[in-house]
Amino acid sequence: MLEISRISHSFGGLQALHDVSLVLRPGEIMGLIGPNGSGKSTLLNIISGIYPPDAGSLLFEGQEIAGHSLHRIAKSGIARTFQTPRLYQRMTVQDNLQAARTAISAPRGDSIDEALAPDTLLEMAGLTESAHTRADRLSLPEQRRLELIRTQTTNPKLVLLDEPAGGMTPAETMDVAQLIKALVRPGQSWIVIEHKMDLIGALCERVAVLDFGRVIADGDRRQVFADPAVIEAYLGSEEAG
Ligand code: ADP
Ligand code: MG
Repeated sequence: MLEISRISHSFGGLQALHDVSLVLRPGEIMGLIGPNGSGKSTLLNIISGIYPPDAGSLLFEGQEIAGHSLHRIAKSGIARTFQTPRLYQRMTVQDNLQAARTAISAPRGDSIDEALAPDTLLEMAGLTESAHTRADRLSLPEQRRLELIRTQTTNPKLVLLDEPAGGMTPAETMDVAQLIKALVRPGQSWIVIEHKMDLIGALCERVAVLDFGRVIADGDRRQVFADPAVIEAYLGSEEAG
């Protein structure tokens, strides 16, 4: 689905990513973890086209997408959420869903099936009653759930989540994990950045770890969590989880 090869990126003198390589298979849900500032969001921003990498390649279903525009990448079948939710604050919940679909012009495939219909998605996210509420009136968990279901309106092949449970209680976090599980479509691949290991444990058999912009571990979740280099990277970090 996605082959990330030797991606590097700097902000001025700060090298945020060094030679990052990761391969994501169809249907895989990969957790992406690492201490604050390790480059997780930067990697998602590069994949989704917010900025081009300084070096390296990104093959999405075999096609090079590195350096393509945000819109072109979205249209090719990649959807995402943000560490701080980015909704149309003054628009209703329902209009936020519609706008996402319109922005991509048309969903891939001929017609939207029932599972992707706005009413179904709202129901899944517990937002049916809030369909006509302005996004800025929603609680943070509701905003995150809306942003999550919004990813599905265009029937993407790859979904990128940046801390979908950020700022949530343990109970709210488990609600989000259940919602993500219910949203996953056959063959769809996901990359999930999260500090909350309950969510990673509920969703991801595979976990990759970034530390200072480098991949320091990648593989089976249990083995990765037991890896001394991973434990070392998290020692003294507030997000040890
Ligand atoms: P993470 O998501 O793992 O917490 P980020 O990818 O946000 O880490 O950041 C990686 C490093 O790059 C950090 O040192 C951060 O300060 C820096 N950084 C991220 N985005 C920018 C930017 N737009 N301009 C300058 N520095 C940035
Ligand atoms: Mg981040």
